[in-house]
Amino acid sequence: MAQPILTLQELSKYYVNGRNVVAGLNRVSLSFEQGEFVAITGESGSGKSTLAHILGGILPYEDGELFIEGKPTSHFDGGDWERYRAESVGFISQSYGILPGATVLENVVSALRLTGMEKDQALSEAEKILEEVELLPMKNRRSAKLSSGQKQRLSIARALAKPSKVLIADEPTGNLDPENSDKVIRLLARAARERLVILITHEFDECRDYVTRHISLQDGKLIADARLRSAPEIPESAPRQRSGKDLSLPVAWLQTKSRPMWAAVVLLFLTLTAFAVFAFLGSFIVALDDTSTRIYDSNAFLNGAPERIVAVRGDLANMTQEDYDKILSIKYVEQIEKFGYIADIYCAWEQDRDYVVNSVQNNMGTGRRPEYVYTDVIEITTTDRFMQTVPLFADDTEFLTAGRLPERYDEIVAVGGEDLLGQTITVYLQDDVTWSTGYLQVDATVVGVTDQGEGLYFHDELAQAITASYLGAEYTCIPMYREVPSALVYKNLRDTWSIYRYGPNCPPFRMDSSPAPGSTMKQLGDDETYISFATYLEQLLLYPTADYSALYKSGLTTPEGEFRIAGVHDSTLENALGVSPDAFRRIMAEQNVANGNQVSITVSDYAYTDRVLADLEEAGYIALSPYVLGSAQIDEDLAAQRSQTLYICIGALVAILALQIIVLRALFHMETESFRILSDMGLTCRTAQKSIFWQMLLFTLAGQLVSIGAILLCSSSGIPQISNVTKYLYGIWWIVISLVHLLSTALAAWVIARGLKKRVYPRTAGYVDLVIDDEEVTA
Ligand code: ADP
Ligand code: MG
Repeated sequence: MAQPILTLQELSKYYVNGRNVVAGLNRVSLSFEQGEFVAITGESGSGKSTLAHILGGILPYEDGELFIEGKPTSHFDGGDWERYRAESVGFISQSYGILPGATVLENVVSALRLTGMEKDQALSEAEKILEEVELLPMKNRRSAKLSSGQKQRLSIARALAKPSKVLIADEPTGNLDPENSDKVIRLLARAARERLVILITHEFDECRDYVTRHISLQDGKLIADARLRSAPEIPESAPRQRSGKDLSLPVAWLQTKSRPMWAAVVLLFLTLTAFAVFAFLGSFIVALDDTSTRIYDSNAFLNGAPERIVAVRGDLANMTQEDYDKILSIKYVEQIEKFGYIADIYCAWEQDRDYVVNSVQNNMGTGRRPEYVYTDVIEITTTDRFMQTVPLFADDTEFLTAGRLPERYDEIVAVGGEDLLGQTITVYLQDDVTWSTGYLQVDATVVGVTDQGEGLYFHDELAQAITASYLGAEYTCIPMYREVPSALVYKNLRDTWSIYRYGPNCPPFRMDSSPAPGSTMKQLGDDETYISFATYLEQLLLYPTADYSALYKSGLTTPEGEFRIAGVHDSTLENALGVSPDAFRRIMAEQNVANGNQVSITVSDYAYTDRVLADLEEAGYIALSPYVLGSAQIDEDLAAQRSQTLYICIGALVAILALQIIVLRALFHMETESFRILSDMGLTCRTAQKSIFWQMLLFTLAGQLVSIGAILLCSSSGIPQISNVTKYLYGIWWIVISLVHLLSTALAAWVIARGLKKRVYPRTAGYVDLVIDDEEVTA
């Protein structure tokens, strides 16, 4: 006689119900062998299910002993029980134990794969089994759509898929009509040809013709045990080899696929949380830059536009076209002002906005005969308009909307309509920091108009002349284009005092009471210069009796060469030498200011500053942001606002992450049943937990992808809160945000996996206070 597979020895099982202890089984001794088809009957509450669950390794017992293939189980640990349930027992219950979302075929294939079968073999084997239970024609139907008889047959098919020695069916026909019940019983009878089948039923009649043994229970006690037929001998078969393959990913996939609605909800939820993490963590990162909470100090740079970056070459040499191209190719660089120094020069042209005119009284007479003179003095008040030349653009921006580019220093492009063309604008240029005296006045003619940026755009010449003086040139030169009148009249605006002066065609200089008849100055030669009227006047006032013609004859020696003074110019660029345009270009080249050595770069948004600075440094330039450099002193109010933003972001982030864990736990709770079913088929606790991590990982990544798409969409459609954040965040920050989100979902997965172990693998987890979930428990 073969050794019994299962033996109960004086086994008792107690339930604790509040303070009542109920005996589910009372000192039951039984023994089962391979090939037996045992029917267990009894009234409701007699302990049938309790017995089934103990034999199935699901429920623990308190007294006596259960032997499995002769081995006592009282010292089994969680792993032993898990292995027993996974490999040796199939369990069929009234509630089917099938994956309702999966197809009929998938149900059987997954069961086969959990026994360690390879995919291809599992597919053909599944079809064989489905043929047997008459479900093959509907193999692609979702199991939820089957009738109850079909469902029960599918659940038997799943049980048959596992080559277990024991098959326990707890009231499998409870919900079925007689015809279907009979089909199920016959299938079980067929299964009993190669294993021990224990059928629990309260309709003994339906299985009377098939079973080999009939056991009756009452109040947890064994009251009858009758052998009806002899059980067939079963040849010892080799146990199926389990492949050590990790099935966690296929399980994750199966569960996701078989519950599309659920998957959609999880995906949507994770998309939302990814978006929220991006929004709050992103805002936090943006607020970390505290530059905007500071007060700009214009000591070093007058022009503290946040988008401005100042750069020089690493070797401090002048920029070349190659440099410009290189800088313009850096991402986020919009345009370049070639002559960086002038970007800090105030540019005033609008009276009472940029400057005011003050009347100043001077006594030009003697002590005895005071002669009061009123002069108008310009006071420049602008702090936000700066000089600029026609910029270089990173893309091929159409700069002009009408007219042409400036061709000389007193021509400009203005922002505005065509009506500006031809107008002459008086512009005052001033540098508080480096110029000791006053301002430059340029009467400039608008030759072109644009819709780019704001303000006025000068020709490079003026920028070159100014840059030369910044760099310490002994003389400031300007090119003389227009013909200078030979006789110039200087009048103050109140017409109370006049000086008349004469050009070189009518020397010597003298003061006169009436203007001389006008004649035109000759064209300047390359070696000739005009001195400015201001210089002349200064000489005149300093040395009233000197012979000024001597000044003309003596000439002027500059580092650029010898100039013969040919006359006086009336350009408002005081103290500048007027030279011919050719001489001007030669001098600028000699003074090495044809191009500036310091460029002023405009980036498309302050948010990109750090990245552009890094790229510039990488490319070999020395660069800084005047705005960041000058933002030294903290504005208390703005700083308080900022820290509030930081707190809110962090608070919201923590709340989102906590909520995420709670909601995900609830969502994954819905999967418990399918895990329980899979665990009956042999899914180990570890693999189940791993599959939760897989699912979480895949859903999180998918959610993040969808969310990134949404963010890019929002930011390209110009939603300011979102686009501001996206501008600030670059590579590394996106990774940080994704990781924070992923870490928190991983934490959720960990919580869920722990809960799963508790609920589905109580014995593995060390919990024994199990509640039978699918029984109508009678009081
Ligand atoms: P049957 O399957 O024959 O209807 P059960 O095995 O479900 O009987 O129940 C046997 C006895 O154990 C009943 O008295 C029932 O009330 C009790 N019982 C079953 N499960 C529990 C439980 N989880 N908690 C408390 N008592 C239980
Ligand atoms: Mg029961």
